[in-house]
Amino acid sequence: MKKTYEHEEIERKWMETWNDSIYYFEASSDKPPYVIDTPPPYPTGDFHIGNALNWCYIDFIARYKRMRGYDVMFPQGWDCHGLPTEVKVEEIHDISRHQISKQEFRVLCRQLTTENIEQMKGMLRRLGMSIDWSKEYVTMDDRYKRYTQLSFLKMYHEGLIYQAEHPVNWCPRCETAIAFAEVEYEDRDAYLNYILFRKVDAEKEAEYVEIATTRPELLASCVAVAVHPDDDRYKTIVGKELKVPIFEHRVKVYADESVDPGFGTGVVMICTFGDRQDVRWWKLHKLPLRVSIDERGRMTEAARGYEKLSVEECKQKIIEDLDAKGLLKRRERIKQNVGVCWRCKTPIEIVSTRQWFVRVKKEEIINAAREIKWYPEHFRIRLENWVESMEWDWCISRQRIFSVPIPIWYCKRCGTVKVASEEDIPVDPLTASPNTPCVNCGGTEFGGEKDVLDTWMDSSLTALWAAEWDLNAGRPSGIEFPVELRPQGHDIIRTWAFYSILRSVALTKKIPWRTILVNGMVLGEDGYKMSKSRNNTVSPNEVIEKHGADVFRQWAAIGGAVGSDVQFQWKDIVAASKFMQKLWSILRFSMIHLKPFFEKESYTKEKKNLRVVDKWLLSKLNKLILSVTDSMENFKFDEAMKSIRAFAWNVFADDYIELVKSRLYGRSRTGEEGKGSATYAIHETMRTLSILLAPFIPFYAEELHSYISNGKEEGEKSVHEEKWPEVKRDIIDIEAEKDGDLIAAIVRAVRRYKSERGIPLNAPLGKIEIYMVTVEVDVDTKGLDTEDIENATATKVELCKSILEGEIKSEGDVLDIDGTKVAIIR
Ligand SMILES: [Zn+2]
Ligand SMILES: [Zn+2]
Repeated sequence: MKKTYEHEEIERKWMETWNDSIYYFEASSDKPPYVIDTPPPYPTGDFHIGNALNWCYIDFIARYKRMRGYDVMFPQGWDCHGLPTEVKVEEIHDISRHQISKQEFRVLCRQLTTENIEQMKGMLRRLGMSIDWSKEYVTMDDRYKRYTQLSFLKMYHEGLIYQAEHPVNWCPRCETAIAFAEVEYEDRDAYLNYILFRKVDAEKEAEYVEIATTRPELLASCVAVAVHPDDDRYKTIVGKELKVPIFEHRVKVYADESVDPGFGTGVVMICTFGDRQDVRWWKLHKLPLRVSIDERGRMTEAARGYEKLSVEECKQKIIEDLDAKGLLKRRERIKQNVGVCWRCKTPIEIVSTRQWFVRVKKEEIINAAREIKWYPEHFRIRLENWVESMEWDWCISRQRIFSVPIPIWYCKRCGTVKVASEEDIPVDPLTASPNTPCVNCGGTEFGGEKDVLDTWMDSSLTALWAAEWDLNAGRPSGIEFPVELRPQGHDIIRTWAFYSILRSVALTKKIPWRTILVNGMVLGEDGYKMSKSRNNTVSPNEVIEKHGADVFRQWAAIGGAVGSDVQFQWKDIVAASKFMQKLWSILRFSMIHLKPFFEKESYTKEKKNLRVVDKWLLSKLNKLILSVTDSMENFKFDEAMKSIRAFAWNVFADDYIELVKSRLYGRSRTGEEGKGSATYAIHETMRTLSILLAPFIPFYAEELHSYISNGKEEGEKSVHEEKWPEVKRDIIDIEAEKDGDLIAAIVRAVRRYKSERGIPLNAPLGKIEIYMVTVEVDVDTKGLDTEDIENATATKVELCKSILEGEIKSEGDVLDIDGTKVAIIR
C-alpha cells in the first residue's frame, strides 16, 4: 500500500472495473421498488457545479436505498429541445434559422445535442454516479416524441388543450410566445413621463389631465384611462372622455379599485398591452384591442407616423414630439421592474395572438402538491404562490423549430382543425398529411401547424416515462405509480415541478411522486451566485482533477443542508482530502496487524474477549450506524457525513488507535488475547465505515472495502452490493462508553501534560493515580480497565479510593478530568 492515497489512479481503476449492471433496475425483482424521477438536464455540454451537486444528492440516495434492499431505478434522460440549442447552432454555423430549411436546421440541432450529451455523460461517469444506463432516454428520439404527442392528443380530446386568441408573453427578439415561467424580472433605469391628455368636453382650451407613464410609445394602444374611485382629485372626470395626445383618439375614464393613487398622478392609461394589469382591465371593462407593436417589436400601422420604428426609437421620437407640442410636463428618473425574456434578456411585450394552451386547474394542482412530501417543506409554499399568481393558462405553442411539432393540420378549404390520429404519430405535420378527409367539408388538402411545443411539454412527462405509464390503458406497466422521488433544484419549481404535477394529474389523476427533494444553488467562494462576470465560477472538473471525484462528492454532502444554497469553498475540499488521507493511513497501519487475522479466521473467538476500550469503540460505532441511518432517511447528508467523519477521525483514529497500539504490537500484558480483540474491533469498524461511506465516496469506499473484506487487494464483492449495516442493540454498552470516554480523556490529558513539559510522549512517568468518583469501595473488583492507559502513557496506573470531598494526599500534579481526579507523579 502506498503512503499517500492516490485518488487519480484508484478512481480510474474502479471506473474501469465496475460493472454497470449492478445498478440496473429489475422490474421482476421482489424487492420493493424505489423509482427516482431524475432530472433530464439540458444538453449544453457543460455539466456545471450546480448539476453536479444535484446529482450527488441523487446518487447518495440511490446507493443508500440499494443497500437498504430496494430495487432502485436511477434513470438518466436528456431534455433536448429548446431555444438555447437553436441559438447555439446559429452561432456555431454563423447562420440564421431563416436561411436554411427547418429540416436542415433540425439536423444541425440534433448533431450538436448528441455531441453535448456524450460530453455530459462522461462527467456523470467520472463523478461515480450509479446511473442505470439501460434506462437512458433522449427526448428528441422518436419514441419519446411519440409519447409527448400522444399525451397532447389525450389532453386535447379531453378538452384540456385548446387553441385561442389571447394575450401572451412575447419575446420580440426570439419571436416566440413564452410562458410566465420564462419571464424574468430585472430592475432597469427608466423615465416616468408626465403627459397631458385633453378633456374632450373641456370648456376652455387648456383643460388637461396629467398622466404619468414609462411607456409613451404605447399611446397609440391606449384604450382607456383609470383612476381610483375614492380619489377626490378625479371624481369629476369618471365616465368622461379624454383625447390621447398625438393620436387624437378618444378614451373613456374608468373608476377602478386597483389603481394606485400614489403612483404618478394617480391616473393611469390602459394600453393593449403594457403589462399584465392591462390585460386584467382589458378583460374586465371589455375594452377594444389596439395593437401598436408587432411580433418583431416594430411599431404597426396603428401607430401612424411611427410605423416600422423599434419600440426604443418610437419612445424617443414620441417624447420629442410631445415636448414640441408642449404636452410633456416633466420627466422623472425611476427604477423599473421589467419583465425580460429568460433567454436573451430582451424586455418582453404582451401580444395578443392565436396560440395553444393547456388548461391550468389551480385547485387541482395545489391539492396535489399538498399530497406530496416536500423536503424542505417551505418550497411547497413557493409552488402554491406561483400557481395563485398565474393570470392565464399555460401557453404551449412556440414559434420555433427544434421541438416536438404540434400534431395538427388545418383544412385548406374550411379551416377546420384536423388532429393527428394515434397511428400517425410521431408526426411532423409540415412534411406529412392526414389520411382521412376533413370531417367538416370533405376537403383533402391540409396545411400543417407551423408552431412547435414548449419543451416543458416533453420534460413534464419524465415521471410517467420512468414508470412506463400507458397513456391508453391509463395505468403504469408493472411499475408502481406515483414513483418515489423527484429530486430537483429550487430554480425550477415554477416550471418543472409545476408542469409535472399538472400533467400527471391531467393524464393519470394521480400525483407524480410521493416525495420531492429540492436542492439549493451553488454559490461562489465570495458568497455570490456563480457567474462568469464575477469570475467566481468553479467547474466540477477543476476539483476532480486536483483532488478526485470522491472529494467533490464529500464537499457536496457536507457543504450545506439540502435545500439551502451551498457556498463553494476550497478549504472544504482540502478538509475532505485530508480526511481521506487520515483514514488511509489508519488502514495502512491496520493492515499490518490484520494480516494474521485474515489467515487464522479467528473472528468469533476474538469477539468474546473484547476489552472495555474495544467495547467502547464498537458501541459508538453502532450508535453511528443509528444516527447515519436516521440522517439518510431524512436526506440530511451533511449530518450523516459529518458524524461519520467525526467518529472516524476523533474516536477511531485519534483515540482508539493510540490506545491499542501496544496491544496490536503484542507488547501488552494481555498478549495474544488483547491483540486479537483489538484487531477484531478494528476490522469491524473499518468494514462498517467502508459501507457507511459507500454512498458518499464510492471509489474510496470500494478501495477500503477491498482491503478489509479479505485482506487482499481485490475484494470478492463490491461494497456497492453490500447490505447497509444493521444496528446491533446488544453491542451498545453505556457502561463501556462511560469508561472508554474516561480512559481516552485521561490518555489525552497525560499526553498534553507531557508535551507541555517537553517530556517525550513515550517516556514513562513515575505513576498515575486515578481517583474515581464512582468507585467507592473495592477498586480491585469494580474498577477501570487500566491496561490501555498504561500502554498509551507508558506509565504504571494505580486506582485509588474515591474521595468525594477533601484533599487528595498525593505529591503529584492533580488534573481534573470531567470530575475524576488524576494525579501524575513524575
Ligand atoms: Zn428572447
Ligand atoms: Zn374542411
